[in-house]
Amino acid sequence: MKKIAILGGGESGVGAALLAKAKGFNVFLSDKGVLSDKYKEILTQNNIPFEEGKHTEEQILDADEVVKSPGIPDKVALVQKLKSLRIPIISEIELASRYTKAKIIAITGSNGKTTTTLLTYHLLKNAGLNVGLAGNIGDSFAKQVIDDTLDYFVLELSSFQLDNCFDFKADIAILLNITPDHLDRYNYEFQNYIDSKFRILQNMTPSDNFIFYQESEALANELTKKTFPVNYLPVSLQEKVAQGGSLQNEKLEVTYQENHFSFALEDLPIKGSHNAINAMSAILVAKVLGIENDKITEGLKTFKSVEHRLEPCGEVGGVKFVNDSKATNVDSVFYALGSFNDPIVLIMGGVDKGNDYSQIEALVEQKVKALICMGTDNQKLLDYFGKKVPLIFSVDSMQKAVTLGQEVATEGDVVLLSPACASFDLFKNYEDRGRQFKVAVSALTIV
Ligand code: ADP
Repeated sequence: MKKIAILGGGESGVGAALLAKAKGFNVFLSDKGVLSDKYKEILTQNNIPFEEGKHTEEQILDADEVVKSPGIPDKVALVQKLKSLRIPIISEIELASRYTKAKIIAITGSNGKTTTTLLTYHLLKNAGLNVGLAGNIGDSFAKQVIDDTLDYFVLELSSFQLDNCFDFKADIAILLNITPDHLDRYNYEFQNYIDSKFRILQNMTPSDNFIFYQESEALANELTKKTFPVNYLPVSLQEKVAQGGSLQNEKLEVTYQENHFSFALEDLPIKGSHNAINAMSAILVAKVLGIENDKITEGLKTFKSVEHRLEPCGEVGGVKFVNDSKATNVDSVFYALGSFNDPIVLIMGGVDKGNDYSQIEALVEQKVKALICMGTDNQKLLDYFGKKVPLIFSVDSMQKAVTLGQEVATEGDVVLLSPACASFDLFKNYEDRGRQFKVAVSALTIV
């Protein structure tokens, strides 16, 4: 019996263990941290042996194949040992893809993955397709292919998941953009990260469709160097494209083969030019799959904005409060600032990831009336923006940031939480940061 070891006992690891067990493998799951009670119960009920708090090497090195959680970097000693012994290391996505007949829509990019994945899923589901949602989001892909009853999967994929995919093949791939991120996992070489993102195209053929944002610099640059045997469907904010999507006269214009679809940008429930890119990408998927225009229109109009992504969360005394806690890098703040015409009180900061703020400098100067720095690395923000904004403050809690935000804002302003940084200094994660923002906003009264 083939032996499979699973490293990491989160949603994807436990899903992989269940699938491997269902397919008759000898399975062992190992997690160096703690497993949640829910997952321990599932593993026990399914007679899957597991350990936590350690990795027992003899057992793991004895496996024929290893499924590694995307959170475990390659540099850890155990992974290096597995590599030197030439034991194949795959991702949960690779494992699951072996057991499904469903068509795969795979979505990656440095920013916009979750929004585009949810919107694509919504358009397909709304049109009555038998579709599942997986990857970095919701229930694990592996768990959902055990019975393999779905016709389509929309998958949100990170570069880490793609790194351990080999035979995986998408039928439609979306690559939204590539900007520097996670470089600590890529030997500090941007090219390694770019290569990882382009793995989304592996094994695709000329009859498969590749949707991409053509003004993403690193992405476009790569396409001038290499050609891929796929059908290209570019998305553009700047020019008209014959096949693909383009923004013209404030309308999303999408063409696939002989079919055309048009939608007014102002009717889109998710705001900002970045969401025009995300929406045109999702619409293209719907067009490729032959969904009728009126169904697409209905789907776009009924899509709910995603929590923590430019999420409107109330208005107090004519001041709007917007939660963009998921903006954990500079590029997302760039798009967030570009989404408003009103003066902005910006709450930014947290754990700096080696940020280069030059990309947002001009926008901050133009739009931000006050900058509230909140977190461990405030000094860097104070040094960088001190002379570039009329008002700048340093605080150490969300409560103080929101109260101060209200104090300095006047009617018609937007108080925007868009941190450009990781959240682990003051919060559990970005969701916790976003929720604390909303709680603080809901406690405000008109002053
Ligand atoms: P991801 O899943 O890739 O992190 P999300 O959809 O969660 O992306 O969005 C994260 C943040 O990135 C949002 O808060 C938004 O400000 C920004 N964003 C969304 N779409 C794009 C895009 N296409 N290009 C650049 N930034 C984007």
